Amino acid sequence: MFLPEPDLVNELLHVKHVERAIELSKMGVATGNYPFGSLLVVDGLTVGEAWNTTATDHDATKHAELSLVSRATRELSAEQLQRSILYTSCEPCPMCTGAIYWAGIPTIVYACPTRVLSEISGDPFVLPCREIYQQGGVTKSVVGPILEEKAAKVLRDFWNKPNAPTGLRSLSPFSSEDP
Ligand SMILES: [Zn+2]
Repeated sequence: MFLPEPDLVNELLHVKHVERAIELSKMGVATGNYPFGSLLVVDGLTVGEAWNTTATDHDATKHAELSLVSRATRELSAEQLQRSILYTSCEPCPMCTGAIYWAGIPTIVYACPTRVLSEISGDPFVLPCREIYQQGGVTKSVVGPILEEKAAKVLRDFWNKPNAPTGLRSLSPFSSEDP
């Protein structure tokens, strides 16, 4: 029987979960929010999913990752969190990177890098999560970009619309319909 290398198995699992994160980013758009989605996986099982709801909740902290971390820390044990992997359609911002650290989640896997998000959205706030952990003297496992083009396409489709917001700080729900 052919058994693939463990690294390849890990990579295929990462791709599968990153694809789901990208699907969730489209849920954000469909509900009138920014195009970001995340999920948390423990021992190979998805234990939570979230998408950005900053516009519909009129709350700047409702990033997909932060909502997910907030729920996960209430519902999961510290041991489960220590075995978890956070998958996200876009590299986490400094706020979410901090929350992921405080939650004790050891691994982040992202699709689109923050630098590319900045280019597409026009928002200048770029601080890669690896640099944040490095400057903070913390070792975390960060994997990505994975499926960068697929994730970036969702971002481009969102910001290329004529009625798209400038940057990332609007808190008014967006029309998910084409004008
Ligand atoms: Zn964030």
